[in-house]
Amino acid sequence: MTSTVPTAVPHTDGQQPPITMFGPDFPYAYDDYLAHPAGLGQIPATAHGSEVAVIGGGLSGIVAAYELMKMGLKPVVYEADQIGGRLRTVGFEGCDPSLTAEMGAMRFPPSSTALQHYIDLVGLETRPFPNPLAEATPSTVVDLKGETHYAETLDDLPQVYRDVAAAWNACLEEGADFSAMNRALRERDVPRIRAIWSRLVEKLDNQTFYGFLCDSEAFRSFRHREIFGQVGFGTGGWDTDFPNSILEILRVVYTEADDHHRGIVGGSQQLPLRLWEREPEKIVHWAYGTSLKSLHAHGAPRPAVTRLHRTAGNRITVTDASGDIRTYQAAVFTAQSWMLLSKIACDEALFPIDHWTAIERTHYMESSKLFVPVDRPFWRDKDARTGRDVMSMTLTDRMTRGTYLLDDGPDKPAVICLSYTWCDDSLKWLPLSANERMEVMLTSLGEIYPDVDIRKHIIGSPVTVSWENEPCFMGAFKANLPGHYRYQRRLFTHFMQDRLPADQRGIFLAGDDISWTAGWAEGAVQTALNAVWGVMHYFGGTTDPTNPGPGDLYDELAPVELPED
Ligand SMILES: Cc1cc2nc3c(=O)[nH]c(=O)nc-3n(C[C@H](O)[C@H](O)[C@H](O)COP(=O)(O)OP(=O)(O)OC[C@H]3O[C@@H](n4cnc5c(N)ncnc54)[C@H](O)[C@@H]3O)c2cc1C
Repeated sequence: MTSTVPTAVPHTDGQQPPITMFGPDFPYAYDDYLAHPAGLGQIPATAHGSEVAVIGGGLSGIVAAYELMKMGLKPVVYEADQIGGRLRTVGFEGCDPSLTAEMGAMRFPPSSTALQHYIDLVGLETRPFPNPLAEATPSTVVDLKGETHYAETLDDLPQVYRDVAAAWNACLEEGADFSAMNRALRERDVPRIRAIWSRLVEKLDNQTFYGFLCDSEAFRSFRHREIFGQVGFGTGGWDTDFPNSILEILRVVYTEADDHHRGIVGGSQQLPLRLWEREPEKIVHWAYGTSLKSLHAHGAPRPAVTRLHRTAGNRITVTDASGDIRTYQAAVFTAQSWMLLSKIACDEALFPIDHWTAIERTHYMESSKLFVPVDRPFWRDKDARTGRDVMSMTLTDRMTRGTYLLDDGPDKPAVICLSYTWCDDSLKWLPLSANERMEVMLTSLGEIYPDVDIRKHIIGSPVTVSWENEPCFMGAFKANLPGHYRYQRRLFTHFMQDRLPADQRGIFLAGDDISWTAGWAEGAVQTALNAVWGVMHYFGGTTDPTNPGPGDLYDELAPVELPED
């Protein structure tokens, strides 16, 4: 094993290095690994052309398959629904195809540097996403308890909102060593990150987000906690996370995952679709011009996996919805892990019992969205009386919670995300059809904007999703509850299989469900790269000594272990 832990990045010019999703749990530089000219590793020539099952054609599965193909393996991708998974971009029936809606991920922080590697690789453009109070957002309306405030910056909101923002900063500083961790992450100072984080994991694994606020002197006011829950930090609406582990929230704020968001022009689903078709310039074993698409019959993934079991020689045998049965030396599983308990018949020998427990304990956030196409960005019209935008990005405690205004310039058709909700707020929409949802949303927004006739601008039918109700998904994304750290650690570290009994190796978990930062595509990419390293190692491969992989540095970077008894 190589032992080159990245050293702290010096900064002498007074400029801070950028923040990236580098830890805090496993501070490995996935971005440097991807950028290195030596590539991700090699497998012995005798293994070239070996088939590896990749279950799930979302971002994680497609990244894993793409990198395994480059190493000379033959990924066989199974996908139950469509390539892209939770990167799902849809159009509106009968409307200009350039009008699209992001049903899953829609905004990406610049700190997602491994994700950015692939966005750049396939030549996609990004642009600022119109979040509440963001620079790219002309105006924001905060509507709480029937009181409406119009703001272009935080300074336009009443003093209490600034007090709440200050309380959050104080609470993070006093309870979670915020500035020290932020600096350590920027400088990639691994010992410092580990020292701060180990202490916090021990102290806070049992704590909810809400309990963390309540414990802070800065948040002794209920009113402050209530406002914070609605407006919070970054994108707002974080009260739906109040029951989750505070560790989940700290990961987001330390790494600025909820800040400076950018959207992908034309839609995020293009990323996995372009990777599927991409012919890498550097490829081992396969002829130049090979792509994932060209390696699959009819250019399409195989259908849903229905059964997974171990067979002689410690092989992984996969049955799919067409009845086809194939056996592999290795498999990567990227679908939501509850699928292994429900839609896929599995034998218990696939994973150690501790991993099954962790899979069973996985906790998901629900999420619903609804979008409508409109004739033009009418919200930029000015109210003759006040001189303000007639409608704004809106955060409210009404049913809609978050309304986003998405346009591509004046006089062109545009899109409104009338509502984006999580957890209980999402479940409230579940029994309603798309049109029923839209009616309730228009009524809510009508209370906030009594003089704006949104309906007269709508040019097509709404599109909607509730991820908890999608046949191939179990919710929007995982969110760990208090006490879940140990389960999360078991799932994330599953790619380190040398320590498992030989008859429990060969299948690798990856994807959002086992990521430390679920709900962020960066984690889907990082866990895919762990699985790629795991498969490479399993086939007897190695990385270049100048570019050690996540498994090579594991012992120095391993996530803190909490006692099991
Ligand atoms: C509402 C919502 C908002 C989000 N917002 C953001 C955001 O703003 N920014 C951000 O960075 N991230 C966001 N995310 C998270 C991001 O979308 C995910 O991290 C990422 O897309 C997950 O990729 P994955 O490959 O791990 O999983 P998935 O995309 O879920 O891929 C798994 C695939 O497995 C398939 N599958 C299921 N069962 C089977 C089976 N039996 N056989 C074969 N295939 C199967 C599924 O159809 C799916 O395509 C959001 C997600 C949601 C749902």
